[in-house]
Amino acid sequence: MLYQRSSALFAEAQKYIPGGVNSPVRAFKAVGGDPIFVKKAKGAYLYDEDGNKLIDYIASWGPLILGHAHEPVINAVIEKAKQGTSFGMPTEIETQLAQLAVSMVPNIDKIRFVNSGTEACMSAVRLARGYTGKDKIIKFAGCYHGHSDSFLIQAGSGAVTFGSPNSPGVTQGTAKDTLLAKYNDLESVRELVAANKGEIATVIIEPVAGNMGCIIPSDEFIKGLRELCTEEGILLLFDEVMTGFRLGKGGAQEALGIDADIVCFGKVIGGGLPVGAFAARAEIMSHLAPEGPVYQAGTLSGNPLAMAAGLAMLTELNNNPEVFESLAKKTAYLHEGLDAVLKEKEIPYQINRFGSMISVHFTEDEVVDFESSAKGNNDTFKKYFHGMLENGIYLPPSAFESYFLNDALTYDDIDATVAALKKIEF
Ligand code: PMP
Repeated sequence: MLYQRSSALFAEAQKYIPGGVNSPVRAFKAVGGDPIFVKKAKGAYLYDEDGNKLIDYIASWGPLILGHAHEPVINAVIEKAKQGTSFGMPTEIETQLAQLAVSMVPNIDKIRFVNSGTEACMSAVRLARGYTGKDKIIKFAGCYHGHSDSFLIQAGSGAVTFGSPNSPGVTQGTAKDTLLAKYNDLESVRELVAANKGEIATVIIEPVAGNMGCIIPSDEFIKGLRELCTEEGILLLFDEVMTGFRLGKGGAQEALGIDADIVCFGKVIGGGLPVGAFAARAEIMSHLAPEGPVYQAGTLSGNPLAMAAGLAMLTELNNNPEVFESLAKKTAYLHEGLDAVLKEKEIPYQINRFGSMISVHFTEDEVVDFESSAKGNNDTFKKYFHGMLENGIYLPPSAFESYFLNDALTYDDIDATVAALKKIEF
């Protein structure tokens, strides 16, 4: 495949935009080569500026769970846009989306809409601090909760892909309140809690991690975490920006059978428009301005186009919950296919999968936390990524990312994906 126009557009973009991109992982730095500039997309397929057609396993990093340019979503946005794009005043559709989200997700009574997952997590932590009157938070190495200061401490995703899990610009003062635990290691959390008795507001976690590749929490770990938080009066904060409305109507809370105290959303809830949200029981949410003293605001929060996209998306999912099962089956089918080929190739690998999240790690050992994920062989990953791309398959351009399947993918697409892997010489 040729990517001449993409490369030319990238060269031009670099003159005016740092690194030529508006979010670092897009730049292909971890895998080498120039990024692909997309022109349009429909269903499971991307069409780039050189006229190539690619099967997409990212779906805009998760939001497009029903595929690109899904008609009910697109039509809702077009119709809404005709009535004006932003008012900075209350609109009925905000309540409609709130009501639907609250009805789908366990343990939440009220929800506040923001514009990104970053904002959702940042605001949710402020709420947790305001509610508990405590300053410290615990996060897990390799988890990514957006790019606000408190979270760029051993962060996953693009931060680790670019070798800056602890970003310059985050002050010592901020960093000291973020304590670091090991994913799937309850003892590491217990130790932090004991050493900081009565000082921890919240434990924030990706309940199924997707930012160090896909990593599944053990039953013992996630249940133990819930019990520990309850015992210690710590709020358990599920960052469901990836898992929300993807692992099922009720997200990871439902899929894992664990109740969280605060839940963050992003991606699917906005149907491909910029939306994030955080939600909790009414008693906790009542601390938020204007009801309570914890301040949080946004000029474009609850934007009508974004709400229209989110409402159309969640309505589809609510009315057709079998889509989650369908996606999980497709993902299992992909897993089987990749597994069979990689076994034949005799290279060390691990495949982690949960629902419609899946990732391949080129390492011998089980991948259960950031340390084991980071052992993956990046040279092998690069060959895998570029080999797949050469054959029309678009995977995340970093080993520290989960794939997000979308329901427009067909079994034929998945067969083509597995056939592409067969052709790669490692
Ligand atoms: N939390 C998680 C779990 C995420 O995966 C991401 C983004 N991938 C974020 C938060 C931040 O969301 P956004 O990029 O919309 O700011």
